[in-house]
Amino acid sequence: MTDTHDLADLCAASGTKFILALFVDLRGKPCAKLVPVEAVDELATDGVGFAGYAVGAIGQEPKDPDLIAIPDTSSFLPIPFIKEGLAIVHCDPHVEGKPWPFAPRNILKSLVAQAADAGFEPWVGAEVEYFLLKRGTDGSLSTADAADDSDQPCYDVRGLTRMYDHLTAVSAAMNQLGWGNYANDHEDGNGQFEQNFTYAEALTTADRVITLRYLLSTIAAERGMVATFMPKPFAERTGSGLHLHLSLTSGGAPVFAGSPDEDERGLGLSPTAYGFVGGVLEHAGALQAVMAPTVNSYKRTGATATRSGASWAPRRPTYGGNDRTHYVRVPDDQRVELRGGDGSANPYLAIAAALGAGLDGIKRSLDPGAIGTCPDHVGALPLTLLHAVEALDDDAVVSGVLDAAVPDDWADGKTLVSEYFSRLKREEFFAWHATVSPWEIDNYLTAF
Ligand code: GLU
Ligand code: MG
Ligand code: MG
Repeated sequence: MTDTHDLADLCAASGTKFILALFVDLRGKPCAKLVPVEAVDELATDGVGFAGYAVGAIGQEPKDPDLIAIPDTSSFLPIPFIKEGLAIVHCDPHVEGKPWPFAPRNILKSLVAQAADAGFEPWVGAEVEYFLLKRGTDGSLSTADAADDSDQPCYDVRGLTRMYDHLTAVSAAMNQLGWGNYANDHEDGNGQFEQNFTYAEALTTADRVITLRYLLSTIAAERGMVATFMPKPFAERTGSGLHLHLSLTSGGAPVFAGSPDEDERGLGLSPTAYGFVGGVLEHAGALQAVMAPTVNSYKRTGATATRSGASWAPRRPTYGGNDRTHYVRVPDDQRVELRGGDGSANPYLAIAAALGAGLDGIKRSLDPGAIGTCPDHVGALPLTLLHAVEALDDDAVVSGVLDAAVPDDWADGKTLVSEYFSRLKREEFFAWHATVSPWEIDNYLTAF
């Protein structure tokens, strides 16, 4: 529960004058109200109200009671480097006094509770990749760094130097927040970057992804640039992933490491970790509806190669050791890296879905099979958002994750979060499908 005194104290100690009381909808769109410190006591005790239908994809109609965002004081972050006296607090949306089941943060909390019931504490690291673009006078978007025309831009030292002011401003912000920024690099696409922070508890990492997207785009805008997390802004360049590194502890002790002598596959993983990987692979199709939730996402996972010769995005649900072409990479015996997610993923839902799939695999002692192969019953990754949504509809476990915060007394026939999400994403697919692309004009206009 939020403690009134705490939030007021936190503001006083940090010189905070205004608080962004923030939460995201199912699409990951951040919504906030700017609350002055004079109203901090009301914010802490009563929360702050929103018209849910105006928020966006959060399961509300215009006639519904307001969404009340209740601040989670433990997520309070002063961000004076954005505006002097400004802070963010992540909030949990409630309706009529109860946690709202369509709120992604509530869904992830439910999954963390399910993991705890199974005896595990989940830990998550997230890698945020993005492009820095600039808008021309005609409105067109191009790489912000005009000098960035290298054929092998990955790790480009000159690109890092040219974008030094932006990258170091973001790095300093992350370190001031105590996130432990440990590396910043030029990614594999021209104009593409990645800035890393240390792993943490699942909810903290999801909050940080949302905060980082906000900080990155705001800091980029201060320099006249557009930061985009869109999965595949350029067909010929690599896309932007949201890789998730997951591990579990039990009573504080890591459970993914096994005894190397007993692991004939040579990855040094425990049966628990293989169960987790087995679950992730079994549910990969449905997982992608959450990890890669836009029509553009499938341009990333469907890409064969890019200018640099590889897309580094998985095409099939396979796993392997330190090999970045797999859906699940196992860099060491402590964690597994899920590479299917992209920059359009809602981090709360993506982490929740990954946990749900992995925990199901542990419960059923699923075996992921031989390295580099797909389990027999699992096909390729979905080719489009529609394929992914169909897989989601057929997958009770991943749909169940989306419904994890639905209370037992939810009336029969009342829309479930999984149904709502599936409808939303189908509508998105068909809205895109109804458009005519330049490719179609080029190929068909005078072809017949
Ligand atoms: N950008 C690649 C992707 O879309 C990943 C590159 C990397 O391994 O960091 O997932
Ligand atoms: Mg990367
Ligand atoms: Mg990675």
